[in-house]
Amino acid sequence: MSTRIFRAEQAVYLPEDAETGTRPVLGPVTVVIDGEIIVSVTPGLTSDIHAGHDAEIIDVPADQVLIPGLVDTHVHVNEPGRTEWEGFSSVTRAAASGGVTTLLDMPLNSIPSTVTVAALDEKQAVAKEKVKVNVGFWGGAVPENLGTGDLKALWDRGVFGFKCFLLHSGVDEFAPLSTEQLHQAMTEIAEFDGLLIVHAEDGDIIDEATAHVDAAGGVDETFDSFLASRPSASEAKAIATVIAAAEETGCRAHILHLSDSGSIDQIAAAQERGVRITAETCPHYLSLFSEEIQNGATQYKCCPPIRTAGNRERLWKGLVDGVIGTVVSDHSPCTAELKRFAEVAEAQASAHENNELTAFAALAAKGNDLGAGGADHRGSGGSFGTAWGGIGAVELGLPVVWSQARLRGLGITDVVRWMCQNPAEWAGLTDRGAIQVGRRADLAQVSADDAFVVLPENLNQRNKVTAYAQRALAGVVTRSYIGGETVYVRPATPQTPAAAGEPGDLAVFPADVRPFTLRPSSDAQ
Ligand SMILES: [Zn+2]
Repeated sequence: MSTRIFRAEQAVYLPEDAETGTRPVLGPVTVVIDGEIIVSVTPGLTSDIHAGHDAEIIDVPADQVLIPGLVDTHVHVNEPGRTEWEGFSSVTRAAASGGVTTLLDMPLNSIPSTVTVAALDEKQAVAKEKVKVNVGFWGGAVPENLGTGDLKALWDRGVFGFKCFLLHSGVDEFAPLSTEQLHQAMTEIAEFDGLLIVHAEDGDIIDEATAHVDAAGGVDETFDSFLASRPSASEAKAIATVIAAAEETGCRAHILHLSDSGSIDQIAAAQERGVRITAETCPHYLSLFSEEIQNGATQYKCCPPIRTAGNRERLWKGLVDGVIGTVVSDHSPCTAELKRFAEVAEAQASAHENNELTAFAALAAKGNDLGAGGADHRGSGGSFGTAWGGIGAVELGLPVVWSQARLRGLGITDVVRWMCQNPAEWAGLTDRGAIQVGRRADLAQVSADDAFVVLPENLNQRNKVTAYAQRALAGVVTRSYIGGETVYVRPATPQTPAAAGEPGDLAVFPADVRPFTLRPSSDAQ
């Protein structure tokens, strides 16, 4: 078994006897890793470690912080079925380059949806030879699989829980649950003490709001028209429905991608009276705000929508107060065409290539690059009514949140709690998410005071449309490790990352594929 010793002047770690929920500390540390597991964490830099003469010593540069790898519990991989949006190969490379060492794949947008064991098998067969970081899976709860035994069968196969919608999901093959079916699902899932994760927007309120917007001309290229069609009241009502069902059934429930800060109080009140409910929010809700979104800038469309600057600040308060426990990406990209980036799609067609880089190059040649100086808020004239909703940024989560956190006087230790430690503990992956004795050596190095500018063409995600084009972000991820082994090395000079499997790829992403991550107590282990 190989031994590695990390010596870091700055590391975010947990003392040996720290209990669950303890805040990590920042300081110099020496970490010894045997195989894939951390076996000692000693404050200070020491060479006095009895590790044998063949131990590999890794000195983390003084300007970099050694942190646990991120655990991103909300990623839409889309393969198989919509692989042109994203796939296991590209998404896991993107994750590694953003310090994400474990990601959990959402059950929908791929075809089939992960609602039966057969569908899980199909997905895993496709993913098996491609995943470069730890990947686990969520199942889905849909009307068709309630009461069939599919949920328990998926649970026994190691899924982390079940996702459901309370309104149209955006794809026809993943149907929403009625309030009655929500209760039914929770009753069923509570029997094996599983977890239901909910896209909490209320369809009736959105239908009503949309009818008003339609009467005034419909959702168009203005963000205001889109925002008016998805009011915060729809989140508030759906969350109340979930809380009531969780309270009645005793099922563990979770609010996905909270955008409405007005709902924080009802979640806090439910938590205080013992309802088993948790909530997450996402980097885009903590950084972007509706007032800055220009006409046609459909790169900012997601559901629930990005709301006001004031709302953003109240989300930060909910996070600091601990009502919102985790920050995860909700990485949900699609093609430029579906984002109604008409010119990108046109350039792509005229280049006769299914390659977005070519399309971006063509736009740049026209002086119409999506990224041309300053944060790029411009869109392409696309309609918020017809563009696909979703923001792809799995590799930017850490720098986006860290850039905003430091502006508010918060520390890198806070970011580690929200993006590493808490999501790991919440998902039941207590073997990771912190630098602590006994946990996995899934790590990242981040140059916290260094900055970079987001150039879409340099992203590792499959499609390059991003809400962060040309934004300067603090926190450069320089290396990622899984089980102590290097899985990402930031190229020394800025360059377009090599495509998967091309020469150069091995220098940036040196590791082999990983086995899937299963829920620890599942029978499949
Ligand atoms: Zn999502």
